[in-house]
Amino acid sequence: MSEIPLSLKSHRVQLDQATSVLQGTVELSWTKFLWFVGMAGAALVGGMATLRWDAFAVFVLVTGAVLLLGHSLGSHRKLIHNSYQCPKWLENILVYLGVQVGLAGPLGLMRQHELRDFAQRLSDCHPYLRHGSSFWRDAWWQLCCELHLAHPPEIHIEPRVANDRFFLWLERTWMLQQLPPALLLYWLGGWAYVYWGVCARVTAGVLGHWLIGYFAHNHGDMNYEVQDAAVQGRNIRWTSLLTMGESWHNNHHAYPGSAKLGLFAGEWDPGWWALVVFQKLGWVWSVRLPEDLPLRKELRTCRLAAWSAAGSSFGLAQLFALCRRAGSVRPYPDARITGPAAHISAHFLQTLVGARVHFDHDPSLRRLSLHYGQARIQGLPALCIAMCTRTGLFKGLALVLLPFAFSWERGRTLVGV
Ligand SMILES: [Zn+2]
Ligand SMILES: [Zn+2]
Repeated sequence: MSEIPLSLKSHRVQLDQATSVLQGTVELSWTKFLWFVGMAGAALVGGMATLRWDAFAVFVLVTGAVLLLGHSLGSHRKLIHNSYQCPKWLENILVYLGVQVGLAGPLGLMRQHELRDFAQRLSDCHPYLRHGSSFWRDAWWQLCCELHLAHPPEIHIEPRVANDRFFLWLERTWMLQQLPPALLLYWLGGWAYVYWGVCARVTAGVLGHWLIGYFAHNHGDMNYEVQDAAVQGRNIRWTSLLTMGESWHNNHHAYPGSAKLGLFAGEWDPGWWALVVFQKLGWVWSVRLPEDLPLRKELRTCRLAAWSAAGSSFGLAQLFALCRRAGSVRPYPDARITGPAAHISAHFLQTLVGARVHFDHDPSLRRLSLHYGQARIQGLPALCIAMCTRTGLFKGLALVLLPFAFSWERGRTLVGV
């Protein structure tokens, strides 16, 4: 096995000489088997016998709600990756809804995720952990079995989560947590609502989780490659709305700590849209994006489009908006350029970009980026576009240099970030 990447040094899973993620046996788990088969059987028989439009509407509504608020925002982006901060009451509600998906308790889910995430980043791991078996065997393994590693590594969960009494209670009672919504739904609409709002919802959640897991490690596009990893994540475009953005799994393998999963234009990410709304309401803050994460040496970008590589959200509209009004000398209040000034002084950079775009010197950043409202672009194109806001010689020079800046950016993406 090759050297462990630096990004794994602070992982919740730690491998020592005696432990391995390769050797193990996959064995039937009666709990998983009965839970899945029981729910699926009840959904199939009971659901068909009681099929009504209002019951089906309840299924769509509650499944969407637990996948978006519970699984994507609560369990995955908050509890596991802590990619944003929110008040404890909101975290508890989101994690509770995450338990409603019916996959496991909060700590059990975290352990499964962390072992898989860690193993997939190594050069090799058991096929169970990388969805590396055939489609049907993987279905049997993931839905009804458990992997018993011969020498499992330890998984350290931080006290903030491991000692939380609410999470521990949910961990002990995660299956029973289907009872409160079942009683409420029975009271609202009888057995039809229970079959559709609980049994069909849990079946869809568990089955969908495996299906996306299988495809997101075997088929689909790649924006990034994690070098020397046992398996690459794949982006599955057509399921982005159904999975609340979770199927941008290639992006997630590249930037696991990012709260935003759809990183490029057209990559729809309902989980991210919800976070933006929560941010506006003041419920969510310190939201982490790819540029806030430490540089990973093993990461290579596969995307050849220089424009996308330089900045995911900077379009032609923003470019024209910044370049026009040449006669005006008023500064742009919502435009700023940030970043290091490694080779030239900060003063000289401000002179280059002129007075209309403010320069924030931040040596901790890796690259220069230009922010204009919500849009962002980085690297040499950022500098050229900022210079376009000037007049005369500087503007002419910037416009001539801009195509070369994009070519340079494209070259960088070919050899890797
Ligand atoms: Zn993965
Ligand atoms: Zn994850």
